[in-house]
Amino acid sequence: MQYWKKLSHEQQDARITEALEENIDYSKRVSLGVPASKLDGQVFYDKASFLKDAPLLRTVVQNPNHIGCHTITESEPFFRGTQKIEQELIETLAVDMFGAAVSSCDGYVATGGTEANIQAVWMYRNLFMQDYGATLQEIAILASTDTHYSVVKAANLLSIAYYPVAVEDDTRCIIPEALEQTIIQALTQGIKYVIVLNNMGTTMFGSIDNPDLYAAYLQKHNVPFKLHLDGAFGGFIYPTSHPENNLNFSNPHVSSITLDAHKMLQAPYGTGIFLSRKDLMKYVFTKEASYVHGMDITLCGSRSGANAIAVWMILYNYGPYGWLEKINTLLYRTEWCCHALDAMGIPYYRHPKMNIITIRAHAIPAQVAADFLLVPDAHEGNVNWYKIVVMDHVEIEHLQAFIGAVKAHQS
Ligand SMILES: *Cc1c(COP(=O)(O)O)cnc(C)c1O
Repeated sequence: MQYWKKLSHEQQDARITEALEENIDYSKRVSLGVPASKLDGQVFYDKASFLKDAPLLRTVVQNPNHIGCHTITESEPFFRGTQKIEQELIETLAVDMFGAAVSSCDGYVATGGTEANIQAVWMYRNLFMQDYGATLQEIAILASTDTHYSVVKAANLLSIAYYPVAVEDDTRCIIPEALEQTIIQALTQGIKYVIVLNNMGTTMFGSIDNPDLYAAYLQKHNVPFKLHLDGAFGGFIYPTSHPENNLNFSNPHVSSITLDAHKMLQAPYGTGIFLSRKDLMKYVFTKEASYVHGMDITLCGSRSGANAIAVWMILYNYGPYGWLEKINTLLYRTEWCCHALDAMGIPYYRHPKMNIITIRAHAIPAQVAADFLLVPDAHEGNVNWYKIVVMDHVEIEHLQAFIGAVKAHQS
């Protein structure tokens, strides 16, 4: 680990206090031109005593704007203190969680996984247009049928095609022959450049795609491609539960990664994370954004600096070993439930390094699924699967109650 470590509450507080002091203080510095201020003092009383011990809430009250990307150039100087913490967060994730060389990545805290995925597709679409002279009709997204629907939004917004790749029903693995057939079909329809959205934990199954499989077939057919990892769900689990893997920046095929701190990390909403190798974000530079200091190369404009602080605090509160213990606890509970399902002969899919159990719907009485708030794969029509996501609040007692309810229906 290069940067990631455990910090006490006092150490976290000291670091954040220092950053907030480096940001603009509107009560001390005359500021006539910035369309920003701290939160409305009449509504959000900033002398409340509990703020003293709550660095995140103090950041919320100070309300720094993290517009732009802080790993590339200097941004709005008014919020430099907290922006440095965001920069530290991005570097920690890129290097210590995703195997990047020091200072080889850019990134920012996005509104969520949807934005981070769109940012990636936008970047590569422009790269193929600018560097290869590609037309919109020649660029397509390739992703498995288990991919999150944000890929469909990206294709629609950016006016490029999406080619879904079939997966095997039991293993949720991409079928190599289907992948090759899809590539051949795309080529015959005039596609020349491909953007791969490779899953690191699908939303419904927690299944993991193999980036080297995509790379092998695209190279076999001489198709230039860029590959993005969607780790919105699995990005804070898989690298910890299975460190020896090929879904990170040590794999030359991987160019960028989406993470969602508001899922497994239990951060406030608005904490998607976009990571990218250097020299790629420039493809979405909006040169007309002249009033913003630094480069505007992110999909969203103004965004809250408090979100970056929240993610930084969670990571540095646990440190790598604390996080490993937390993930192992979730995996232990998942295994407990899988053993119970095995004993009852109930069919399900589960990736051994992930905390999702996706059960064949026919094996679960609809009433039990409803009582325990299992999530179906479809809300209308035929339900094929129900999933259990073993989050922090899902304890063995709850799983035991669920197993008991299924048993009661079986007998
Ligand atoms: C949740 C999820 C997304 C979308 O993330 P939001 O934060 O809801 O925008 C994208 N991909 C995967 C795999 C997800 O699980």
